[in-house]
Amino acid sequence: MSAAEHKPDIRSHRLDKDEIERNFGDLHPPLTRSEALIEADRCYFCYDAPCTTACPTGIDIPGFIQKIRSDNLRGSAHTILRENIMGGMCARVCPTEVLCEEACVRNSHEEKPVEIGLLQRYATDPIFDRQVPLFSRAPPSGKKVAVVGGGPAGLSCAHRLATLGHDVVVFNRDNKPGGLNEYGIAAYKTIDNFAQREAEYILSIGGIEVRNGQTLGRDFTLSDLRESYDAVFLGIGLGSTNELGLDDETLPGIDDAIDYIAELRQAEDLGKLPVGRRIVVIGGGMTAIDIAVQTKRLGAESVDLVYRRGPEQMGASEYEQNLAQTNGVTIHHWARPVELTGEDYITRIRFERTELDRDGRLVPRGDHFELTTDVVFKAIGQVLDVGVLGADTAGLEIRRDRIVVNDAGRTTLRDVWAGGDCVSGGDDLTVTAVQQGKVAAIDIDRRLRKE
Ligand SMILES: Cc1cc2nc3c(=O)[nH]c(=O)nc-3n(C[C@H](O)[C@H](O)[C@H](O)COP(=O)(O)OP(=O)(O)OC[C@H]3O[C@@H](n4cnc5c(N)ncnc54)[C@H](O)[C@@H]3O)c2cc1C
Ligand code: SF4
Repeated sequence: MSAAEHKPDIRSHRLDKDEIERNFGDLHPPLTRSEALIEADRCYFCYDAPCTTACPTGIDIPGFIQKIRSDNLRGSAHTILRENIMGGMCARVCPTEVLCEEACVRNSHEEKPVEIGLLQRYATDPIFDRQVPLFSRAPPSGKKVAVVGGGPAGLSCAHRLATLGHDVVVFNRDNKPGGLNEYGIAAYKTIDNFAQREAEYILSIGGIEVRNGQTLGRDFTLSDLRESYDAVFLGIGLGSTNELGLDDETLPGIDDAIDYIAELRQAEDLGKLPVGRRIVVIGGGMTAIDIAVQTKRLGAESVDLVYRRGPEQMGASEYEQNLAQTNGVTIHHWARPVELTGEDYITRIRFERTELDRDGRLVPRGDHFELTTDVVFKAIGQVLDVGVLGADTAGLEIRRDRIVVNDAGRTTLRDVWAGGDCVSGGDDLTVTAVQQGKVAAIDIDRRLRKE
C-alpha cells in the first residue's frame, strides 16, 4: 500500500452550504394550525387514556389535545409543562413510537396513532418562543438545596423546587446548562438553539442560581454540599465512555462518538467540521445511530454501523434504525470488533461474526470480515464516573456503576437524592430524567417541610 493510501481522508466542506443546511434542518417540521386542528380531531379522548399511562411524566394527553381543539394553546401548554417542564424538548426527542404513540388506541384500528409529539410541540412552541411565564413560586421556605448537574434531571428538579419556594444552586460542569440536550441530542432534532431557550425559560422562574464550570470532585465535594445545604440532588449523567478493550485502541482516528457529537452541536459552521470519508461506528444505541446519521449528513461517503447482536436487541428504536438506513448508513448485525490495524492511525478494523448459543450467550461464529476506514467511532455506552463522588461514596450505595435510589429518588444518604442517567434502573431517556428530577424535588420538599 502506498503512503498516500495510508493517509486518512478526513476533511471539512464535503458538502456545500445549502446541502448542509438541508441536512441539518428540522427533522419533523412543526404542524401548521390547520394540520394541528385536523390531527387533534383524530383523538378519541379516551377515558382511561393509555397514552397518558405510557408517558413517563404522566402528561394528561387527551386534556392538552382537547385544549388545542378549542384554540387554547396557553392552557394546553400549561397542562403539558406542569407535568414535564421540558415538554418542548421531549416533543422533539422522545421516542414516541415506543411510548405514548405506541399506546394510542388508534393503532388497534390499524391506523396511524395520533401524532402526540407533534401536537405537544405545536402547543408548547409559542411559550418558549415568547418566553411566556406560566408558573410562579410559592412563598419562600427558607431552605436551600444544591443540585449537581444542569441537564434534564437537574433542571427539572431545580424548577420544581423553585416553584415550591426553595432556593436552589445548580453546580454544572459544562459551560452551558442543558446537559445532553445542549451537547448530545442530534442537531436536526433540536434546531434554532432550542436547548438554551428552554433552559432560559426554566430558569426564569427565579430562585435558581446556576454556577457553570463547577465540577463535583474537582471544585467541591459532596461533603461540602451536605454541610452547607439542606438537601442535595445529584443529576450528573454518565461521565465516561466504555472502551472496546482491544489492543491499539489509542490509535489516532479511534474516537468517542460523544465527544464528536458535542463538537458538532457547538460548531457555529457545520461545513467547517472535519469528517472522515469512510466511517465505522461501533454500537447499537441512540448515540451510535446519531453519530452515523450525522456524519453521513455531513458528507461522509460510507458509514458502516456494526452491532454485536440483532436489530431487536438494539437500544435504538426501529424508527431510529430506519432513519439510519434511509440516510444511507449500512447496519451490520451480529459482529464484534476483534482487531484494530494501523501504523500512525487506524486504517482497518476486523470483526468476528457472532451468534447466540443454546444458553442464549453471545459466542463467536468462527468467520470474520474487515472494513477499511478513516475514522472509527466508539458508541458502546457510558458509565458513571464514580471517582467524582470521591470518599463520599461511603454510605452511598452504587450498583453496576450507577447510584441506587428508591421510587422517590432517595439515595442511601439521608439528605442526598439522585435522578437521571446516573441512577440505576432507568432507561437513559430525556423524559425519564425529567420525571426523576421532578419526583425527587417533590420528595425533598416533603422532607424539608417535616423538619
Ligand atoms: C448522543 C445522545 C443522543 C441522545 N438522544 C436522545 C433522544 O433522541 N431522545 C431521548 O429521549 N434521549 C436521548 N438521549 C439520552 C438523554 O440525552 C439522556 O437520557 C438525558 O440527557 C439524561 O439527563 P441527565 O440530566 O441525567 O444527564 P445529562 O444530560 O448527561 O446532564 C448531566 C449534567 O451534569 C453535569 N455534570 C456532569 N458531571 C458533573 C460533575 N462532576 N459536577 C457537576 N456537574 C456535572 C453536566 O455538565 C451536565 O450538565 C441521548 C443521549 C446521547 C448521549
Ligand atoms: S390513546 Fe390516542 S386516541 Fe386515546 S386519548 Fe390518547 S391520543 Fe387520544
